[in-house]
Amino acid sequence: MKKHNFNAGPSILADEVIENAAKAVLDFNGSGLSVLSISHRSKEFDAVMEEADRLFRELLAIPDNYRIVYLGGGASTLFYEVAANFLGRKAGYVNTGVWSKKAIKEAKRYGEVEVVASSEDRNFTYIPKGFAVPADLDYLHITSNNTIYGTEYHEDISSPVPLIADMSSDILSRPVDVSKYAMIYGGAQKNLAPAGVAFAIIREDMLDRIVRDLPTMVSFRTHVENNSMFNTPPVFPIYVLMETLRWLKSIGGVGEIFRRNREKAALLYDEIDRNPLFRGTVEKEDRSLMNICFVMADGYEELAPEFMEAAKARGIVGIKGHRLVGGFRASCYNALPAESVRVLVECMQEFAAKHAK
Ligand SMILES: *Cc1c(COP(=O)(O)O)cnc(C)c1O
Repeated sequence: MKKHNFNAGPSILADEVIENAAKAVLDFNGSGLSVLSISHRSKEFDAVMEEADRLFRELLAIPDNYRIVYLGGGASTLFYEVAANFLGRKAGYVNTGVWSKKAIKEAKRYGEVEVVASSEDRNFTYIPKGFAVPADLDYLHITSNNTIYGTEYHEDISSPVPLIADMSSDILSRPVDVSKYAMIYGGAQKNLAPAGVAFAIIREDMLDRIVRDLPTMVSFRTHVENNSMFNTPPVFPIYVLMETLRWLKSIGGVGEIFRRNREKAALLYDEIDRNPLFRGTVEKEDRSLMNICFVMADGYEELAPEFMEAAKARGIVGIKGHRLVGGFRASCYNALPAESVRVLVECMQEFAAKHAK
């Protein structure tokens, strides 16, 4: 049966990307070697790095004074690396959920953290807006898309201090004004690659703001100056990331994927709002295009396991909500076809026809 993959991460990649990755595992570009067995210093892999850099810049309109690096350790390692590099005295964090909290916890090891805004008062069901950002912060950190709670910033905010964003789960899903950020980073396993690589897009002048002497691997300067090749980078995930960028360009780039993502999200949110058996869990204006959370409506709670079964019978995979939110979460990343959302919507409609009181 065809599967509809709504996994939150690692998550769906385009069929064509997976096919090309499979071919490269067997024979990389006619080299007679597997991409798993080539040197990261070979000219073949140089070409991969060069193309990834070029496409990333083109697709996200990254200005020339930014550098892209690829790192191991995931976004979770970057939580402490960001603070180790840039937190001298005090940094500001916006607390919009689990990932923000984890970033805050790590930052506190290096200095003072001021939580400038938080949506914890209402269980992270909205994005705080209109908050003041003190001018004496080393930087302000936000989580642009809250993968677990299903909220997302729909505007690039302005900050009087360097703005650093964890974009793990919405990178390249929508246009971003990169010039508003000092740094954008994330794990690549939600929208770009298999697990194993994180990306960081760093404005060059930030390297002059590194506040302490750091172990070589922790300093962003090391990775920028060595083009992510100080040590062995995650060769295969970077290769697949490059294939994803190629795919994204081939379908029309970020403008087109943003159009598709809005269309998919509208389809599902409209059904959640219309269907008497389900309800959304967050403020409508802050709803994520990537992670769509919903629960059984009041009076229908006990039907949740039966709905999971109905979804499973249609090949729908990965919609169990995070344990902190419960219910369901349909992650609709870039590579998820609209067809999969339509199958889920039909499943919800059929379920309502059968069970509505
Ligand atoms: C998944 C996720 C992370 C954690 O990423 P790892 O690469 O597993 O460390 C951090 N932030 C956000 C927003 C995420 O979605």
